[in-house]
Amino acid sequence: MRKYIALLLLLVGCTQTPSKDMAWFQESKKLKVLTSTAMIHDIVDQVGGEHVHSIPLIRGELDPHSYELVKGDDEKFMVADLIFYNGLGLEHGLSLRQNLEHNPKAIAVTTPILERRSGSILIVDGQYDPHVWMDISLWMETVDPIVEALCEKDPIHADVYRARGSLLLEKMRKADMEALTRLQAIPSEKRFLVTSHDAFNYFTRRYLADSGEKAWMKRCEAPEGLSPEAQMSVTDLIAILNHVENFHITVLFPESNVSRDSLKKILSAASEKGLPVRLCPHNLYGDSMGGASSYLEMIEHNVAVIAGELE
Ligand SMILES: [Zn+2]
Repeated sequence: MRKYIALLLLLVGCTQTPSKDMAWFQESKKLKVLTSTAMIHDIVDQVGGEHVHSIPLIRGELDPHSYELVKGDDEKFMVADLIFYNGLGLEHGLSLRQNLEHNPKAIAVTTPILERRSGSILIVDGQYDPHVWMDISLWMETVDPIVEALCEKDPIHADVYRARGSLLLEKMRKADMEALTRLQAIPSEKRFLVTSHDAFNYFTRRYLADSGEKAWMKRCEAPEGLSPEAQMSVTDLIAILNHVENFHITVLFPESNVSRDSLKKILSAASEKGLPVRLCPHNLYGDSMGGASSYLEMIEHNVAVIAGELE
């Protein structure tokens, strides 16, 4: 096996793998974990601490919906002890999906939510909405399955993983309440969002909807659907313009990893109709953590940007 790893390292070394990934390949004492997104990576990192070496497959502003494997990724799948991914159809790039499906090392972190509380998972246009991380209270439910998977793989450090998991849940609970308090203080008639793509449904349901509101979906609209590869049609444009007009929306929120083209088209069509709409100067972080260094920082950034514009 050692010979095999050495050969892999040689191969991977030839593909200009970033130094962080090289260190992961060379890791010999810690559990090697591969995660699809940075949001999952952060949870694994916080739970695993010094005993786990985790890297995200999809880095920076790359789109997780359409990500396809690149040179060096196959080796990561081979070497990883555990692989965590989002599921609910997020990772639908063919080559990535093929490496995740039926892979005994791969765990979809949203499966327990689907099994235990399927009603909390949103279905949009007949598809699961995968953007569960946008609601901290729901993303908290991925922590225990991650803790348990690490404990099973590395029982010697089980107490550490469980203790770190509890601490993380406490931090998440606090951040969730802070987000609720800040956003619910905004008058209800102002709590409407137009974002680049449909990444903010869970966020809207948790933080922007009125308590018990059934028609909360009207509070968020996006030109590009659940996955940003989809193009905005003329029908979509008209629907958004009507939405902007009906709910007196004055600001559109761009996302850091989605082109601004659709939002600019909406702006120009809105200006032709005499609607006073502008683009928020700050990006929201939808499918990537953007400039945030942790998952909670990402959500806190979104809360601050949205509250700053709508308050
Ligand atoms: Zn998305």
